[in-house]
Amino acid sequence: MIYIGCHLSVTNGYEAMGHQMVDFGGSTFAWFTRNPRGGKSKDVTPEDVKALQNILEEKKFGKLVAHASYTMNLCSANPDTRANGLDMLQKDLEKMEALPGQYYNFHPGSHTGQGPEVGIEQIADGLNKALFPEMQTTVLLETMAGKGSEVGRSFEELKAIIDRVELNDKLGVCFDTCHTWDAGYDIVKDLDGVLDRFDKIIGLDKLKAVHFNDSKNQCGAAKDRHEKLGQGFIGMEAMKRFAMHPAFEGLPFILETPNDDDGYIQEIATVKSWFE
Ligand code: FE
Ligand code: FE
Ligand code: ZN
Repeated sequence: MIYIGCHLSVTNGYEAMGHQMVDFGGSTFAWFTRNPRGGKSKDVTPEDVKALQNILEEKKFGKLVAHASYTMNLCSANPDTRANGLDMLQKDLEKMEALPGQYYNFHPGSHTGQGPEVGIEQIADGLNKALFPEMQTTVLLETMAGKGSEVGRSFEELKAIIDRVELNDKLGVCFDTCHTWDAGYDIVKDLDGVLDRFDKIIGLDKLKAVHFNDSKNQCGAAKDRHEKLGQGFIGMEAMKRFAMHPAFEGLPFILETPNDDDGYIQEIATVKSWFE
């Protein structure tokens, strides 16, 4: 069994997202901690948190996977962008403590010409400044497609970041199927081989969540264009094999496919049908 859901808008608060995902038939969800342009985030009330927690418990939801702003870049060559990224990360993590025990996923960053080694150092530096011993959130590094100067396109790069972070028991990895495929990992023909590499390099115990997307491009394209389940180069059969692999048992799966509400409701039903 896995938990399945999609991204929701946080505009109407936490409880509203819980109700909406129950209506969608899912058992987890994601939301952007601030609007995608990186603006100010909405304040959370204790009542709203409690109401959501009641839904999560009653409906037996899995872990939730908050998503950082795309503009947050801990390894930009521009020091202002880096400082702003650290500020966003610190404020987001502080806010996540109001809803303890969930996941917070972010794109490690784009080195914007500095090279991946510098990128890795700067990302780790940001995490070392932002993580704190009492925190109850697990911070997830997302596997990236490798478009532009993205850091995190290989398991080795993710591991190099994790190794440089002092409180790395607070870190995990979110496996984005489209990104990993686009980065050159063949999860269609060799899923076991890919997971074996993940285990040897990072360790499967660090695998905490999945972004469940088909891809508009071929393996290794380094493009990052998501497709609806079964309509891309990964294909439905491989998506199904992936979801049912024992390595992902009990993890939250978040759809980031190009869909409207009805499309997500359909895909959630499809994924659930595999486990019936
Ligand atoms: Fe992402
Ligand atoms: Fe993703
Ligand atoms: Zn993507």
